[in-house]
Amino acid sequence: MTPLLPVAEALARVLAQASPCQAVMEVALIDALGAVLAEDVSADIAVPGDDNSAMDGYALRAAEAEAPLQVSQRIAAGSSAGAFLQAGTAARIFTGAPIPPGADAVVMQENCEERDGVLAVSGPVVAGQNIRPRGQDIAAGSTVLVRGRVLRPQDMGLLASIGRATARVYRPLRVAVLSTGDELLEPGSAGLERGQLYNSNRYTLAGLVRTLGMTFVDGGIVPDDPDATAQALTDAAAAADCVITSGGVSVGEEDHVKAQVERLGQLDLWKLAIKPGKPLAFGRIGNTPFIGLPGNPTSVFVTFCLIARPFLLQLQGVSEPAPARLYARAMFVVGKPGGRQEYLRVTLGNDGTELQANLFANQSSGVLSSVSHSNALAVIPPGTRVEVGDLLEVIPLDALV
Ligand code: AMP
Ligand code: MG
Repeated sequence: MTPLLPVAEALARVLAQASPCQAVMEVALIDALGAVLAEDVSADIAVPGDDNSAMDGYALRAAEAEAPLQVSQRIAAGSSAGAFLQAGTAARIFTGAPIPPGADAVVMQENCEERDGVLAVSGPVVAGQNIRPRGQDIAAGSTVLVRGRVLRPQDMGLLASIGRATARVYRPLRVAVLSTGDELLEPGSAGLERGQLYNSNRYTLAGLVRTLGMTFVDGGIVPDDPDATAQALTDAAAAADCVITSGGVSVGEEDHVKAQVERLGQLDLWKLAIKPGKPLAFGRIGNTPFIGLPGNPTSVFVTFCLIARPFLLQLQGVSEPAPARLYARAMFVVGKPGGRQEYLRVTLGNDGTELQANLFANQSSGVLSSVSHSNALAVIPPGTRVEVGDLLEVIPLDALV
């Protein structure tokens, strides 16, 4: 028997084949959420553009703060920096307003008393206080964000702050999803007969693809038939940048995906050292990359997240590394070490000092509830026993979907 392929090795092999898609488009910044930046962006301007006040109060010279000062001008946010601040004077100033030349500190209004145009300040004043220096957020000419960045809300704000109204991003990848199996029925169609089940993988995969900001191309249900499989694969490969199937990659007589992909392109079929999961196919249909996931719904979720997700992200031009991994104390026992790397569905809790992982009771690969009712995957390497209190690597599902 050939040894099972370790998860890390399978991942390395698929990533070696993922050449980033090069198609670039310009989008309005307001619509750029989740898009992948296709350019390095540098700032033409400094942010903030002026030294400005962090407080409502008075701008003055710190060295003069102990003497009474004439209030000589008033500077509101949005106005220009005002006149040079003469010795012995102070300027009434508001948050965000530019500091007048000559001033080197702002005293907040709560520490000031103005009477008949003369200001008295209480408490110590040091040079620089309550002044936000020009360029403290972004220096003019500096690189703000780099290519390969998935744009988050705060990144949209950052680009807006330097005056960008558009961004050059990679065209979202089109990912075709085909669900194989004669036993499948679409939800919404009446009359589930014995032996039939509703097609859940199509929905899980549509959600996973869209969560990555990619376009879901619906390949529907493909019957367990060689010609129908070949036709569906050919159509999907023509319409998408990557084709993903679920089911039909075991070695049973009704598993046609392997033979048809081999006919239309090229295929490796692996037995992965992963649980849930195990059979996984990887190849191409013509020039379109192909990933054949197992059929069991939980295996679909786990193998998509561990293998297909990083592959698709790299294809999409994303440069960010894998999600940060956390560690949590096992609140359960794994008595028998397994031969495959196991991704247990757990719920992370917190006892006030550290994370705790609680095991979902039924870990069968057919039990999709185990994913819905968990919030993390606990990684159990092959050959590992787990005692209560052991520190486990966990991958929060929030980082994946
Ligand atoms: P297969 O690899 O095609 O033998 O499928 C393995 C198991 O996954 C079988 O029990 C199938 O019924 C189940 N399965 C396959 N595809 C789907 C699907 N799209 N939705 C729900 N269950 C599925
Ligand atoms: Mg099947």
